Amino acid sequence: MSETVFSKIIRGELPSHTVYEDEHVLAFLDIHPVSPGHTLVIPKNTDAHTIFDISESDWLAVTKVVRMLASAIEKATDADGINLMMNNREHAGQVVDHPHIHIIPRFKGDTHPQWSHKTYKEGKDIEVREKIKKALS
Ligand code: AMP
Repeated sequence: MSETVFSKIIRGELPSHTVYEDEHVLAFLDIHPVSPGHTLVIPKNTDAHTIFDISESDWLAVTKVVRMLASAIEKATDADGINLMMNNREHAGQVVDHPHIHIIPRFKGDTHPQWSHKTYKEGKDIEVREKIKKALS
């Protein structure tokens, strides 16, 4: 079980700007938004920490709400696009130890950095592809 700032929000011990709630899922405005409308979607279940240990049913419930909210948020903020983001573990930028998906409105000409891309060295793409396939089995 994870006890985080989000557990307190779920229990109503900390205020939040809730935009959607159902039995399993809560969505609220990020307190430090990348852009107006930046929303976090979380499972109410506090058992998990990341994508790696969230239950399939919680994951499906969260992603169903993410899909629904993406359209509503784009419309409501008059955004030109939406980024979905999930940080998992400290070195991937996770600060709050409770699974959460960021929905981030994007606007033409905004200055947020895009991913930087690299090129595979000869054979490295095959090597990593095979490692991933092996890890699946
Ligand atoms: P991450 O780096 O993916 O773990 O993101 C955690 C997010 O939680 C950050 O974007 C924070 O701004 C946000 N956050 C932290 N505390 C609160 C809070 N009390 N209410 C709303 N958002 C919060």
